[in-house]
Amino acid sequence: MVEDNLRKIYGELPPGVKLVAVSKFHPSSMILSAYQAGQRCFGENRPQEFAAKAIELPDDIEWHFIGHLQTNKLKLVLPYASLVESVDSLHLLEAIEKWGSLNDRVTSILLELHLGAEETKGGFTEDEITAILERASGTSAANSYPHIRFCGLMGMATNTVDEARVEADFMRIREFKERLDGTFPELKDFRELSIGMSNDWKIAVRHGATIVRIGTAIFGPREYR
Ligand SMILES: *Cc1c(COP(=O)(O)O)cnc(C)c1O
Repeated sequence: MVEDNLRKIYGELPPGVKLVAVSKFHPSSMILSAYQAGQRCFGENRPQEFAAKAIELPDDIEWHFIGHLQTNKLKLVLPYASLVESVDSLHLLEAIEKWGSLNDRVTSILLELHLGAEETKGGFTEDEITAILERASGTSAANSYPHIRFCGLMGMATNTVDEARVEADFMRIREFKERLDGTFPELKDFRELSIGMSNDWKIAVRHGATIVRIGTAIFGPREYR
């Protein structure tokens, strides 16, 4: 079943768009089914579960962290994460930089832009992201974040069946990304636009997604424990 779902998605995913198989709440055995079908990139959103799976599963898996990350949990996530997609506060960004300087490691991250209407959803405003990139780039005297690689933006559209609303969210984040590319051409790694989940990934691909994060459409519904 996992294999069929993956094959179906890859059949429609344009080349060059990365699929993150979101395996949160699913057992390692299901990750291995996807792995045996050729999938190598997985996403998790809880630090403890992320670390446990990263340690026990094959070394050539590329792990993306996609959840809220508290600064006291960095050591569970940063040693194993190829990409932290969900950096959503200055406090977290500073803590990742500090961890990197203490451990001599550069962490690849995406900055999460607050999209959509839901008050509870996290993420930065556009102005906050612009200010961070100013401190990370040649427009400032010194790079404040030498242990962070800024790889792009992540966003979650409004959770609605109203397709026009979802499209408006994706258009906003894409336009913002393009403006940043114009303002900070020296940030060569700032390439990714991670938008799109099970319900809206096809719309996201039409609006410039370079990464889609798909869970349910691959692994089925999650059983929350
Ligand atoms: C759970 C999750 C997904 C995947 O959601 P599905 O609807 O199951 O595809 C994608 N992105 C983030 C940030 C998530 O937490």
